[in-house]
Amino acid sequence: MPPVSHTRRRLLNHLALGAATLPLLRLSPAEAYDLQHLSPDDPAAKALHYVADAATIDAKSEPQYAAGSHCGNCALYHFSQARGDWASCDAFTTKFVNSKGWCLSYNTG
Ligand code: SF4
Repeated sequence: MPPVSHTRRRLLNHLALGAATLPLLRLSPAEAYDLQHLSPDDPAAKALHYVADAATIDAKSEPQYAAGSHCGNCALYHFSQARGDWASCDAFTTKFVNSKGWCLSYNTG
């Protein structure tokens, strides 16, 4: 086996150091989850008429909407998982909804 050159040895050391530090760069599941905000364009969001800001709802076109209702006072909103103004809810468990949002599954509990 030929001797490892100095340059090659340095490259291998850098690769080993990089591999060792990769776990430190990974996001925790909660942090990764936090990055996924539900888009109103998502098919599941559309099915439940989700909007990220209930203040934009036209009550005439959305008769089930009651003034003052929003995710932040919905019984299905998961405050314990909130990251700022965003959290998951029982209607959307894999993405975060905005506390100012609203959808057809709004529930007062
Ligand atoms: S179920 Fe409640 S918390 Fe979830 S999107 Fe609808 S209104 Fe918001």
